[in-house]
Amino acid sequence: MQGQQRTGLHKPETAAEALAALSDLGGGGAVMAGATWIMRAPFRQEPMKPAYVSLAQIPELHRIEVTQAHVRIGSAVTHARLVRELQAIPELGGLVSAAGDSANPAVRQAATVGGNLCTADFAAADLVPALLCLDAEVEILTTEGRQLLSLDAFLALREMLERAYLLVSVLVPRRPLASAHARLPLRKAGDYPVAIVSVAVESRPDGHMRGAAIAVGSVDAVARRWRGLERAVAGLPLDASRIHQLALDLADEFVGRDGPEVPGWYRVKVLPTLVRRAFATLQQH
Ligand SMILES: Cc1cc2nc3c(=O)[nH]c(=O)nc-3n(C[C@H](O)[C@H](O)[C@H](O)COP(=O)(O)OP(=O)(O)OC[C@H]3O[C@@H](n4cnc5c(N)ncnc54)[C@H](O)[C@@H]3O)c2cc1C
Repeated sequence: MQGQQRTGLHKPETAAEALAALSDLGGGGAVMAGATWIMRAPFRQEPMKPAYVSLAQIPELHRIEVTQAHVRIGSAVTHARLVRELQAIPELGGLVSAAGDSANPAVRQAATVGGNLCTADFAAADLVPALLCLDAEVEILTTEGRQLLSLDAFLALREMLERAYLLVSVLVPRRPLASAHARLPLRKAGDYPVAIVSVAVESRPDGHMRGAAIAVGSVDAVARRWRGLERAVAGLPLDASRIHQLALDLADEFVGRDGPEVPGWYRVKVLPTLVRRAFATLQQH
């Protein structure tokens, strides 16, 4: 009704209905997935929206599909389900560890992959670097239709996307990789990690690395690949001590974001240690 603010929780049953509800609500509404970020709005001194569009009753968004070519993860799949249902897939070790170590068991039952990727202000999101180093793509639905974007491109666009968009799924290509995730949580950081390193390595038959994808979270405002270190380690043996030394040499590529919990320089200082830990995990396998 014109002039009247619409409030409440909308429960669409398809992605198209969710998008229609979002378009209808304009700035007065937003998606609600696990609500673990939304419920903390008052702590961040942010206003709640008058209305939310729940994803709970849209079956497509809760599906996980595993084929020989890819793993497709619906955006409403929780961290707990990622751990339960993907732990047998060898190349997804880093993603499973990211989902299993984030937050606490109760939060992991509710927090979703879509919420993790869509929260532009959440620099410490664990799944973002884990998916970046797996070359994941995301499927989004807007009034223009569905489109597939690289996760990199989505992260760059995220804040500019019109309000009415829905992240439908995440597509991870299947490749012969081994991956790992290392994070440094500090109690005083409110449970969020102060720095995160995710790695995915393709090995050659001689044990040297054909290539390594290395992603860093929580250090900059948005997680990103550490391309300088990736170039430096390509072709080397999988030797965590040697890679640690290279990370020490190259860490000045980062400035680090200052936060109430730690200064930016501290995030950069712990990065090489997290790189060593992540590669050491792979060395043990
Ligand atoms: C105490 C605590 C500690 C935590 N620690 C960590 C941690 O260390 N690491 C970690 O990764 N996570 C952590 N989390 C969980 C974190 O909140 C979630 O990982 C995630 O960022 C939010 O997911 P959600 O499903 O709850 O999203 P919601 O709170 O429902 O939504 C978050 C935002 O994303 C938007 N959104 C959600 N889904 C979609 C979609 N499909 N399409 C478009 N927009 C969407 C919403 O509109 C909203 O703006 C923690 C949570 C709590 C409460």
